[in-house]
Amino acid sequence: MRTPVIIGNWKMNLAPSEAKALLRELRELDLDQSVEKGVCVPAIDLLIAEDILKDSDIKFGAQNMYFEESGAYTGEISPTMLNDIKADYVILGHSERREYFKEDDELINKKVLSALEHDIIPILCVGETLEERESNKEEEKVRNQLEKDLKDVKDSDIEKVIIAYEPIWAIGTGKTASSDDADCMCKFIRNYIKKVYGEDYSEKIRIQYGGSMKPKNVKELLAKENIDGGLIGGASLKASDFEQLINYKK
Ligand code: 13P
Repeated sequence: MRTPVIIGNWKMNLAPSEAKALLRELRELDLDQSVEKGVCVPAIDLLIAEDILKDSDIKFGAQNMYFEESGAYTGEISPTMLNDIKADYVILGHSERREYFKEDDELINKKVLSALEHDIIPILCVGETLEERESNKEEEKVRNQLEKDLKDVKDSDIEKVIIAYEPIWAIGTGKTASSDDADCMCKFIRNYIKKVYGEDYSEKIRIQYGGSMKPKNVKELLAKENIDGGLIGGASLKASDFEQLINYKK
């Protein structure tokens, strides 16, 4: 049985004073303990998350990191810095980083390996554009990303990785993939893991859906066999929405 995992990706939202207010609100909520939950916050909010979420069961993480531990890499944060504040997760390969900041699969792969080496759970995002979906290339695109981004990830590490299937056309658009389409792609990802790492690991690895997941569609999406959670953008910025997402079983 895989533990469901719901993570908020705040993206470039919530300055420290706003972050404090939302995190304090989240701490006070009565959240389902059988669901793993967390927030991935802007770098400037990480220390605040560490402070406010300590002694709670809400985990936290970063939205990106560099793969080196330290050095002359202006503007970057490192895995050892994340270790220092006991961050649980790091989102890697988000489509916004791939598109706007030109991150390629080779770089993302180095980051995935570095996160695992430093005991930080990578949330690896994959997904196709609308054009690729309309020309039936979604599986080819996602397979390609998985092959490159997970290169050299050891068998013993693969089950620590969380994979987020995020069709780019569904992000921030209010268009959600139908639950059947989302499940079908998550199943495709699970089968890929099965082929490369074997059935046991493919049954353990958690695969999230991301893209306009909201309180109104979460139940249907998470009822699907292959969808183990959600990576939530917009709806993670409001405590009441995030609460309903985490408490989707109630
Ligand atoms: P939205 O939930 O705002 O569509 O964002 C999804 C996403 O990109 C999460 O990483």
